[in-house]
Amino acid sequence: MIIRGHHFLCMLGFKGLGYDEEFIKNMDKVVEKLKNDDDVLIKLVDSVDNICEKCPNNLSGVCKNEHHRDSIKEMDNAVLKVIQTRPGESMKYSEIATNIKLFMTEDIMNDICRNCSWKEYGYCVDGLKNLR
Ligand code: SF4
Repeated sequence: MIIRGHHFLCMLGFKGLGYDEEFIKNMDKVVEKLKNDDDVLIKLVDSVDNICEKCPNNLSGVCKNEHHRDSIKEMDNAVLKVIQTRPGESMKYSEIATNIKLFMTEDIMNDICRNCSWKEYGYCVDGLKNLR
């Protein structure tokens, strides 16, 4: 499985919202898979991943939000740094989840996600609190 850094935060608070029906269905599938099999090996990236596969913003394999300041790519890299890894490395989901619990704080998350249009719902930070 391939997952980009910031999507680990999105998945914490996923409540069935998304860009369209196809996107939501696919994201639900990824979230369920990780919930049921945390031994799964994940390649960490800062580019399109298995969640982006069904996204309307994925234009021929590149997210249209990748190329501006405070872009999604920067969010990916910030998350990967906090959980002590880097793009291209692979880890089991269980190890990633442990590092999120150990190193991700609400303050860091609020800063990384400051420009995200989903932040106002508060679901993702709630998801982080529920991990503890
Ligand atoms: S393509 Fe961009 S907007 Fe769509 S899920 Fe991936 S990162 Fe998010």
